[in-house]
Amino acid sequence: MDNPCPQCGIMNRRGTNACRCGYENAAGGSFANDPGPAQTIRTARLVIALSVGVLLGILLLSWELLGSNLTVWGIIHPILLIVVCAGLLSAGYKLGWFSSP
Ligand SMILES: [Zn+2]
Repeated sequence: MDNPCPQCGIMNRRGTNACRCGYENAAGGSFANDPGPAQTIRTARLVIALSVGVLLGILLLSWELLGSNLTVWGIIHPILLIVVCAGLLSAGYKLGWFSSP
């Protein structure tokens, strides 16, 4: 598996610590060991997905509350979504999932 250079985006072979563009891994490690941009993007995606889940839950809940035919499940469903997503977000922050090394 190849790893992209954080400076120019060219894929570099695993184990190389210098890129054709002149970028050198400051830590002296290989690209494979560098958490770098790929990890940041994964983390950002997770945060965005969970935030969207919370927002969607709030949207669905207000939709349900404003609607004429109110059902118990219509209220519990979005609340569950909000609780699960918000819970995962706060758990992630506590466990350091989102902190960059
Ligand atoms: Zn490069």
